[in-house]
Amino acid sequence: MSSQPSSQPGPKPNSFAARDAAYHLHGYTNALKTEKEGGFVVVRGDGPFVYDENDKEYLDGLSGLWCAALGFGKEQRIIDAAVRQMENLPYYHTFSQKAPAVTVELAERLVELASLAAPMSKAYFCNSGSEANDTAIKMIWYFNNALGRPEKKKIIARVKGYHGVTVGSGSLTGLPLVHKDFDLPIKNVFHTDCPHYYRFGKAGESEEDFATRMAESLEALIQREGPDTIAAMFAEPVMGAGGVLTPPKTYWEKIQKVLKKHDILLVADEVICGFMRTGNQWGSQTFGMKPDIMTMAKQLSAAQMPIAAVLISQRVYEGLRDHSGKLGSWAHGITYSGHPVAAAVALETQKIYAERKILDHVRAISPVFLAELKSFADHPLVGEVRGVGLIGALELVKDKKTHESFDASLGVGPNLIRIAHDHGVILRPVADSICFCPPLICTEGQIREMFKRFRAALAETQEWLKSQLVA
Ligand code: PMP
Repeated sequence: MSSQPSSQPGPKPNSFAARDAAYHLHGYTNALKTEKEGGFVVVRGDGPFVYDENDKEYLDGLSGLWCAALGFGKEQRIIDAAVRQMENLPYYHTFSQKAPAVTVELAERLVELASLAAPMSKAYFCNSGSEANDTAIKMIWYFNNALGRPEKKKIIARVKGYHGVTVGSGSLTGLPLVHKDFDLPIKNVFHTDCPHYYRFGKAGESEEDFATRMAESLEALIQREGPDTIAAMFAEPVMGAGGVLTPPKTYWEKIQKVLKKHDILLVADEVICGFMRTGNQWGSQTFGMKPDIMTMAKQLSAAQMPIAAVLISQRVYEGLRDHSGKLGSWAHGITYSGHPVAAAVALETQKIYAERKILDHVRAISPVFLAELKSFADHPLVGEVRGVGLIGALELVKDKKTHESFDASLGVGPNLIRIAHDHGVILRPVADSICFCPPLICTEGQIREMFKRFRAALAETQEWLKSQLVA
């Protein structure tokens, strides 16, 4: 039984697809498949669309990797900001009390924006979400050493949570493939239950009761390990790469109560949810989270330059400040932390968001997006529809009644994504959940076009699946 809906021809000699396979090692990719089929090489972009080397158009329904908020077209203001910065000061660093002026401006802006969710005191810059979460782990360990409680070091994350791939952040990520054969997770990282009500709620259990059970399970983990040994919990407001899992009602209220009781810091990983994705500036606002630390990347610069940040509360800052004062230095720093060109691009991106009223646009377009998603609820293959703001997912199931999933070896989700690709829409499968996260600038027409292409792919998948199940 083949799980391939169509046989892919090999790449044309000397095409980018072939050269890609010959010379480039991809992230999160089956290298054997790349050798056989060639890479998918993108040569230009325009709004939410990208074009391959044959000039075929694709609507990227995942904003690249949940990040290209302004799409893939030319943004003259961002180009000008980058060029201006490169002309004035192409590089300076942030060690030993030094900083490029533009980096200071960006820190100021982010502290101001963060206050919409929770008061933050300082911003520390990184180059990726993974690096930001690794930095946050080190800050937390250092903070607890500063407070004279060196035993309070364990970190809790969640099954199906995603926080990156570096040694620390990869350990926080709660996906088996990110750990397997990479010798992760490191010690002192624990994963509490995944709050996906549709998948893990018990028969007859309300969403609120499920949230209570999640909080009790967290409390049990803390008691098992010892409350005095737990330093922090990392969590995404909406779990993105785990399959766009929106939290059940009352979840965050109950989880935060447990954390507060044991003086455990909350780190909100805003790498996907930050910058309006959920219909507010921060995912933390949407779900009433009051974090002590916030990590962010991706839409911080609309993905036009690599930059990330860790924002810390005054309490955490004072711990770092006083301890580093005693030791002589806070001995953590990255060459490109707060790189001025990346900072200039991020700052201009933030100005564009404000001036073009992107938040108002997201709020206006979100009902169209969510209604389109919900229109699949009665489809025989769709078990759950979930979403908020401009992020959502459809979970495909074998049995709508029992929620039974398809046999993983069928590869229903990945095959649907391949068919959708042929129909000119790029989406992402997480097992059999199909994730949608279009650029924030999408018009109503483009949102409808994305779902139109997807609908055609779903119909074709249904036909293919019939032949598979009969064969
Ligand atoms: N946190 C979250 C919530 C993410 O979605 C990601 C990336 N998808 C990361 C952290 C890691 O970011 P990066 O890939 O930039 O290291």
